This record gives sequence, C-alpha cells and structure tokens, in this order.
Amino acid sequence: MKVYQCDQCEYASVSNKYRCPSCGTGKLQEQDVSSRGTVYSYTDIHIAPAEFAHLTPYTVALIQLDESKAKVTARTNGNVEIGDVAELDHIEDGAYIYRKC
Ligand SMILES: [Zn+2]
Repeated sequence: MKVYQCDQCEYASVSNKYRCPSCGTGKLQEQDVSSRGTVYSYTDIHIAPAEFAHLTPYTVALIQLDESKAKVTARTNGNVEIGDVAELDHIEDGAYIYRKC
C-alpha cells in the first residue's frame, strides 16, 4: 500500500498532503510498503453515521504499519485486540478493511 514519508522529519501518513503537516517544510515522498501491521488501538462502533449504520456493530482499528511510521485507520473484519497482527483485506468505498492474520 502507499504511504507518504516526509523527506525532512519522521512524519508519515497514508494520505498525501502538499506539505508535511508536522515540520511544515518537508515534501512527502510516496513509498510502497507492506499493508501488514499491528493493532495499536481500536474502538467498537455501535452508533454509526447513516451511511455505515447497516454495518454496526463494527470495529475501527488504528494499525501501526510494520514497514512505515504511518498508522492506518481501518475497519476490521471481526474482533481484534491491541497487539494483534493484521493485514489489508480489501478497500471498500475508499475505506481500508483489515483482517486479523
Ligand atoms: Zn516533516
């Protein structure tokens, strides 16, 4: 998957920006890294915006990627715990869907 790494500081993100929001001067360089990562935190969603209401309850996890400092906000297939290893299952309507390995 694509991540964007600042060429001046440690900042990395999965979304591209014109300029690094952390140091304000660096340019973000595109990198291709493994989607595999570790669950950093998660939240169970029981009340969702209308467009996701049919999916509830679901889990949104913050995944720390193995090969980048970037973290990915993803919906997960099934329950996860902090520390679980997960990888990208598919992308749905622009949302990352991860599953436990
Ligand atoms: Zn930076």
